[in-house]
Amino acid sequence: MKRVLLKLSGEALAGEKKTGFDEMTVTGVARQVKQLIDEGIEVAIVIGGGNFWRGRTSETIDRTKADQIGMLATVMNCIYVSEIFRYVGMETEVLTPFLCSSFTELFSKDRAVKGLTEKKVIFFAGGTGHPYFSTDTSTVLRAIEIEADGILLAKAVDGVYDSDPKINPNAKKYDELSIQDVIDQKLGVVDMTASILCMENKMPMLVFGLEEENSIVNTIKGKFSGTK
Ligand code: UDP
Repeated sequence: MKRVLLKLSGEALAGEKKTGFDEMTVTGVARQVKQLIDEGIEVAIVIGGGNFWRGRTSETIDRTKADQIGMLATVMNCIYVSEIFRYVGMETEVLTPFLCSSFTELFSKDRAVKGLTEKKVIFFAGGTGHPYFSTDTSTVLRAIEIEADGILLAKAVDGVYDSDPKINPNAKKYDELSIQDVIDQKLGVVDMTASILCMENKMPMLVFGLEEENSIVNTIKGKFSGTK
C-alpha cells in the first residue's frame, strides 16, 4: 500500500484514562507513523471524538448541536495529535470541512493530495461536517476521495470476532471477511452508513489492535495478524 488512511478512535488517544489525552500512547503512534513516512508511504488520519463527547448519548440537548460538539471534539484531537507528530519530526496539516479560522485549513481533495505527496501527514478533522454521521463514515468517505489504497482501522481489539472476545472466551476471530458479511451479521466493525459506502466503492479495510506492539507498521509490512 502506497497511500493509506489510518483511523484511530478517540478512546485510543486516552490510554487507560479513557478520557482526554495520554501522551505516551500518542507518541507511540507517532513513532510508528514516522517509520511509514520515512519509507515513502503516504498517511492520512481520521480520529474519533469519544474521549470527549458523543452526540447521540446526550438526552437533553438537540442532536444537531450535540453532534456539532462531537465534531469539534475531533478537531481538538487532531490538533493535539498533529502537534505530537510534529514533535517527533513529521510535517502535518489539519483539514476541516468547515472553517475554523486559522486553527485549521479548509478541506479539499486537491489540498489533501498535494500535502500527502509532499510527505505531510494529513489529518481529516471535523468528521463529514454534518450531524447524524460518524467518523467511521468520514474515514471511508475521505479514503475514497483521496483514492487511498486502503483503510487501517486501529481498534481496542485485535481484529473482528463473531462475538465480543471480552465476554465470550470462545469468540472466533476472522482472518478475512466481506463487508456484506459485516452487514449481514451486524458485526459493527464500522457503522452501517460507512459499511455501505465502503462496499459500494470496494475500499479495502484492515482491522487490527492498536495496543499490540508495532501493529501499524506490521500491518503495512505484511506481518498483519488482524482481519481484512
Ligand atoms: N460527528 C458528527 N458527524 C460526523 C462525525 C462525527 O456529527 O461526520 C459527531 C457525533 O456526535 C459523534 C462524535 O462526533 O458522536 C464523535 O465522533 P465518533 O465517530 O468518534 O463518534 P462515535 O461513532 O464513537 O459516536
